[in-house]
Amino acid sequence: MIKTISYLGLGTMGSGMATNLLKAGYGLTVWDRSSEKCEPFARKGARLANTPADAVRDVDLVMYSLSNDQAIDEVVFGSNGILSGINKGQIAIDISTVLPATSLREQQAYAERGVDFLDAPVFGSKQESADAKLWIMAAGNKAIFEKVKPVLTKLGQTVHYFGKNGNAAAMKLVGNLIVALEMEALAEGLVLAQKAGLDLNTVMEVVKVADFRSPLLVSNGQNILKRNFSPSFALKLMLKDAGLIEKFAESLQSPVPALRVAEKNLESAVGLGFGQENASALIKALEKEAGVEVKGR
Ligand code: NAP
Repeated sequence: MIKTISYLGLGTMGSGMATNLLKAGYGLTVWDRSSEKCEPFARKGARLANTPADAVRDVDLVMYSLSNDQAIDEVVFGSNGILSGINKGQIAIDISTVLPATSLREQQAYAERGVDFLDAPVFGSKQESADAKLWIMAAGNKAIFEKVKPVLTKLGQTVHYFGKNGNAAAMKLVGNLIVALEMEALAEGLVLAQKAGLDLNTVMEVVKVADFRSPLLVSNGQNILKRNFSPSFALKLMLKDAGLIEKFAESLQSPVPALRVAEKNLESAVGLGFGQENASALIKALEKEAGVEVKGR
C-alpha cells in the first residue's frame, strides 16, 4: 500500500494535486525549483526537500508535474536529479505533458535502477486539479497501475488505463490536438461574430446550448467576453504542446493540417507578449489581424 509520496513541481497543476494528497492523509515530501512555492505545504505538514534526489529518498511513490521535456531532463536526469536518489522497489509517475518518446526514455532509465514507471498525464486544468476532478490516463505495468490507482482516484474523477508505457502520453497529445482546434475554432468564431455585429453574449448563450457545445468552449468563451485571460492553462504551454503534437504526428506520418494553423496563431499571440496569459489569449492574434476586440456587454 502506498503511504508516502514525493511531489515535485508545484505549479498550477502540481500545487492542486499535492494539496489533495495531503488532504487524503499521505505522508508528503515536496520539492520545487522555486523553494518559496514549498512553504505553504510545509505549514500543512509536508517535508521540504532541497533537491530532487533528496526529495525521493525513502518514499513509496514519486510524482512530478513539470513544464516540458527540458524540465524533465533537469529534474529527472540531471545532477541531483530523481534518478540519482531513487532506489529499487520505488515507483515514479510523470504527470507532465511530454512526448511519448520521453516517457519511454524515462521508463528505461528507471528500469535500469529497478524502479517502476507510469506515464500518467491529465486532462482538466487549475480548477479540476484543485477540486480533485481531473481526468487521468495512465500507462505502464498493469500491476503497478493497480497499486497506485487508489492514489490517482484521490486526484481525479476518472482514471483510464492505456496499456504500455508511452500510450497515456500519446492519448494526452491526441486530446490536446482536439483542445487546440477547439480554441482556434472559438477564437475564429468570436472574431467573425464581432465583425458581423452580433451580440456576443447572445452568441455565447447559443454556444452553451447548441449541439456543438462543450465545457471548454463555454468557459473560455465567457472569459474572453469578460477579457479575463488569467492563466489556468498558459498560452506558452499550449504552444509547447502544439509543437509536441506536430512532432508526434510527423513521426507517425499522420496529417495535422489544422493544427499547423492553430500553432501559427499561438506563435503570433506568444510573439505579441501574451505567453503567460491563458491559452484563450490565442484570440488576440486574430483580433489584431481583424482590427477588433471581442468583448461582452
Ligand atoms: P506551471 O504552472 O508553469 O508549472 C510548471 C512547473 O515546472 C513548476 O513547478 C516549475 O518550477 C517547473 N519547472 C519548469 N521548468 C523547470 C526546470 N527547468 N527545472 C525544474 N523545474 C522546472 O505549469 P502547469 O500548468 O502546472 O503544467 C505542468 C505540466 O502539466 C505541463 O507539462 C503542462 O503541459 C501539463 N498540463 C497543464 C494543464 C493546465 O491546464 N495548466 C493541464 C494538463 C496538463 P517553478 O515553480 O520554479 O517555475
